[in-house]
Amino acid sequence: MNAGSTPSDLAALRSRAIDAARQAYAPYSNLRVGAALRSARGEIYAGCNVENGAYPIGGCAERGAIASAVQAEGKEFRLAAIAVAAFAADGTPLPVSPCGACRQALVEFGADAQVTFLQADGSWIEVDAGALLPYRFILPGQ
Ligand SMILES: [Zn+2]
Repeated sequence: MNAGSTPSDLAALRSRAIDAARQAYAPYSNLRVGAALRSARGEIYAGCNVENGAYPIGGCAERGAIASAVQAEGKEFRLAAIAVAAFAADGTPLPVSPCGACRQALVEFGADAQVTFLQADGSWIEVDAGALLPYRFILPGQ
């Protein structure tokens, strides 16, 4: 199981995810996504979506946060929890869960990590990363 997060831990992550969404570079979709994760060491890393005029090379907030964590903690990085928040251009919360590629990235670093994401009504869903991707890709010997 994951290290667990207290309600105040999750509240802090959610707040950081909302802040990160404000930094999104999303001139094409106007979908602003922020993610903030807590590593097993207790550090927090954030990311936002970064779009590109060549659409497929844009990057997701979750994987941006993971890249930042790996850069800081190296191969020892383990994911304890992550919060994801998405907003329309007018600031309305959107019910966006991590995409398939991000789900695979999340379970690579913590299948038991807590994942929480914002809903349109302002509530947050909480689920383990492994539950988001039960039939994930696993290399033999991994
Ligand atoms: Zn994604």
